[in-house]
Formats: sequence, C-alpha cells, structure tokens
Amino acid sequence: MIELRTPAEIERMRPAGRFVAETLAALREDTKVGTNLLAIDRRAHEMIRKAGAESCYIDYHPSFGASPFGKVLCTSINDAVLHGLPHDYSLRDGDLVTLDFAASVDGWVADSAVSFVVGTPRDEDLALIETTERALDAAIAAATAGNRIGDISAAIAAVAHGEGLSINTDFGGHGVGRVMHGDPHVPNDGRPGRGFPLKPGLVIAIEPWFLQTTDELVTDPDGWTLRSVDGSRGAHSEHTIAITADGPIVLTDRTGL
Ligand code: MG
Repeated sequence: MIELRTPAEIERMRPAGRFVAETLAALREDTKVGTNLLAIDRRAHEMIRKAGAESCYIDYHPSFGASPFGKVLCTSINDAVLHGLPHDYSLRDGDLVTLDFAASVDGWVADSAVSFVVGTPRDEDLALIETTERALDAAIAAATAGNRIGDISAAIAAVAHGEGLSINTDFGGHGVGRVMHGDPHVPNDGRPGRGFPLKPGLVIAIEPWFLQTTDELVTDPDGWTLRSVDGSRGAHSEHTIAITADGPIVLTDRTGL
C-alpha cells in the first residue's frame, strides 16, 4: 500500500533525514586508508545511541537473509555494491567505499547512501561515482507532482545509458515512512509516463547504483554482500526525498555538512 504523508508528517520526518545525513557525513570524514569496517559500524552505532535513534538494519531479517543483519550500516567495498556486511577488513589505498545507512528518529525513517574513494583514486572509479550522483540528481529533478515513477526511472536510465552502463532492476528505490522499505518500488530503469503518479506527500528513497562492466550480481558466503559477477567495481548514491506541491525536498541532503 502506498501511503501519502501530510505536510506536518513530512516536517516530522526531517529529524530522521538530518540524523542520517549528519551520520553519513561524519562517517565519510572518518573513513580513511587503514580504517576497519567494524570500526565504521561501531561509530555509527555510537551515533545512533547518542541521538536516541533506532537502527533499521540490526534486526533486519528479510526472507533472503540467512540471519538478522546484526550491524547498523552496509559497507560495500570495490566490487561489492549493495548490502555489504561490515567485517574485519582494513581499507587499502584506492578502495571504493559505499556506506548505506538508514535509521529511525521519533518513529520516522530516512535512508541514504554515498560512495567515495579512500587514498589515491582511479579515474574510472571517480567517473562511476559521478555517474551515480548525476543519475540521482536527474531523478530528483524528475520527482515532481504530476510526473510518474517511470519518469524517475527513465531519468536514471538515461544517465546510465549515456555512459554505456547496463542496469540491474532487481534492487532499486522504495517508499520510506515508519519502516525502511515500503511501496512503491522505484526501479532504476523504466518508461516515462508510466507507473504510480507522483503526488504531494509521497516519500521515497531513490538509489541509482551501477557496476562498471556488468549488471549481474553474486551473493557472498556471508549471505548478504552483493558483488559484481565479473569483479568490476560498483557505486551507489541514495537520498530520501519528499514530493511536495513546491517540488522535491531532499530529506537526507548533506550539503554544507
Ligand atoms: Mg539505503
């Protein structure tokens, strides 16, 4: 079921968006060559505790998961792109890092992800990250009342195809509210003018993610981490946005943080 939020409810979602934005900004600042993925998870856990927020991930146990996730964020490194389970690994020079974080504040959820390189970047990694960010910007620009979900999907796909990237539609954006994953699904490819109409009060996470030379994923033995089938690297960019009569509000905006 697709739920629409009142303007007052959207205001009450802002603290969750701000908390997720501030946490990701702080974690990004702290994450360097040598940083252990478990230390990033511990820092995020500490920030959740201090803020009186709740993790959306720690007890997360969907049908495809072997057991509850047990950590508070996803850390996907290099050819891992989604659902990376933090483990005992210290980052190396040139690693491409994706942090995906969702939390609940006062009963409302926000969800956001960012990719970046620690140490000396490869040009192709920076280009891939820039493409996911540009796709997210294009998608947000299309997230206006009167458009449809397909307009968001098509905006993402146009950017990806412009760079010769292929798209996996198994995992994409989703409704956000009291829980992390709700309707509607927001695929990273689709046809303009199709799908659910975008109405004021619709709150969704939009999350383009791409791999350099494939769109096929394999699951690690940990039961969670999804990586490219061919070892090529991935990047992911996600914001939670609210559609309003005055245009989209990026609830997880990190600008200036
Ligand atoms: Mg997310």
